[in-house]
Amino acid sequence: MKIYFLGTGTSQGIPVIGSDHPVCKSTDSKDKRLRVSVLIRWDDYSFVIDCGPDFRQQMLTSNCKKVDGIVFTHEHADHTAGLDDIRPFNFRQGEMPIYAHQRVLDDMRSRFGYVFETVNKYPGAPSVKTIEVVNDVPFPLGNKIAIPVDVMHGDLQVFGYRIDDFAYLTDVKTIEDVEIEKLKNLKVLVVNALREEHHFSHFNLQEALDFIAVVKPEKAYLTHISHVLGFHEEVQQKLPENVFLAYDNLEITL
Ligand SMILES: [Zn+2]
Repeated sequence: MKIYFLGTGTSQGIPVIGSDHPVCKSTDSKDKRLRVSVLIRWDDYSFVIDCGPDFRQQMLTSNCKKVDGIVFTHEHADHTAGLDDIRPFNFRQGEMPIYAHQRVLDDMRSRFGYVFETVNKYPGAPSVKTIEVVNDVPFPLGNKIAIPVDVMHGDLQVFGYRIDDFAYLTDVKTIEDVEIEKLKNLKVLVVNALREEHHFSHFNLQEALDFIAVVKPEKAYLTHISHVLGFHEEVQQKLPENVFLAYDNLEITL
């Protein structure tokens, strides 16, 4: 299984529009972060987690020619706003399977009404096939099984996902012990770490490191990163041996 980090930035991306912050002006490509998403590939399958506003650019940069489904964590725009750009896949493959909590599917239905239209739908509009994700109900993804992991993003429920020895959790602030049980014996855990300062709905760096110390994956990669966390190279040097800052276009193999 290969994990390609399509984007590792927080909701505004890095650089932030109009910002003079040194990280936003960095010339290191690892300091340029699109909105958070990963491409997961194995055998002939490829699935994407989340579909934010940078989806089109991410599909071009990763040279992704086929997506077998998009798995959503939650409805916030930095995770869903790219839905219109699934059309090239629709034209080649037909309906795009989208997997999400029923609340998230309902939200997308109101946000992207034209996608879900059943009467007089515009012929070139995106088309999706919805699959509801329910906590504690593992579901098939290609020839593998995905396990939903229920976490909280402030007051908002969010799904993380485990596939084999890989788990992807973004926009986490709190997680119950019973959900942490689902994360035993991971080779790779991806988890959000926004910045050093406290945030009401995201792990800060210390909270992410404390969580990793509890879960004990072989390796952990941090994502959903704000420019105020600092320069990639400098932050990486401060991290424990088995913890890495993810960066855009990083690909890892499990
Ligand atoms: Zn987010």
